[in-house]
Amino acid sequence: MNAVLLSHHLKSLKLPTILREYTTIAAQCAQAKGDYATFLLQLCERELLERERKATERRVREAGFPVIKTIDLFDFKAIPSLNESLLRELLRGEYLQKSENILLIGNPGTGKTHLATSLGHTACTQGKRVRFTSVIALVTQLLEQRESKGLARFMKQLEKLDLLILDELGYVPFSKSGAELLFDVISRAYEKTSLIVTTNLPFEQWVEVLGSERLTGALLDRLTHRVHILEANGESYRLANAKARLKGKKN
Ligand code: ADP
Ligand code: MG
Repeated sequence: MNAVLLSHHLKSLKLPTILREYTTIAAQCAQAKGDYATFLLQLCERELLERERKATERRVREAGFPVIKTIDLFDFKAIPSLNESLLRELLRGEYLQKSENILLIGNPGTGKTHLATSLGHTACTQGKRVRFTSVIALVTQLLEQRESKGLARFMKQLEKLDLLILDELGYVPFSKSGAELLFDVISRAYEKTSLIVTTNLPFEQWVEVLGSERLTGALLDRLTHRVHILEANGESYRLANAKARLKGKKN
């Protein structure tokens, strides 16, 4: 009868992990001659840990990473030009507390998207709200939202984020209103939401994508006011890999 009642109470209190584990932990505690407080503490710890794990899982899902890439999968030796100590420092997440930005610059295939995803994934585990999007997809979405009068709501959602990752500011130029909307997002993020931008374009060429010189200047001003720059220059990892595989086949 006690078990039935307890199960009922734990369900109403929404403590599923305690419900699942209390018999096992009770047995362990009895064997170790632990006291009641230790038993209760262990139960609470399990419940908390499980909640944390679930919350992180939800944040990772909501972030919308195209593929989940973590830093332990990154081979630093493949890209000696990258400032590894700065990257490791950034993974600790203080930049998020200070709403600072990160710019990842380098030629294609050098791991910029991988690194941005790793930073974003780590931020999720640190309890931060993250969104990953390619710059083009964001601009398209902004234009669509404006069309359907959903822009204000969409902007509000973006403002709730701790970290917005804008992947691949590339060679495709935006329309005038597209560039203005992107500028708007970056302005609103200023000193509130951290931004990570990845790009293969040197600053001089941003104007070609954004159109107006004044807008580019203002955008760069906001983006780079408090920024950490990581340069990933070198041979494309994909290319190097493909070459190595080819060589392997020949031998
Ligand atoms: P970029 O965004 O700079 O074009 P990506 O991050 O998309 O490059 O990298 C291309 C592919 O190569 C991805 O699958 C990525 O995980 C992998 N990759 C790139 N650099 C490394 C590296 N140093 N270690 C491990 N994998 C890497
Ligand atoms: Mg990329």
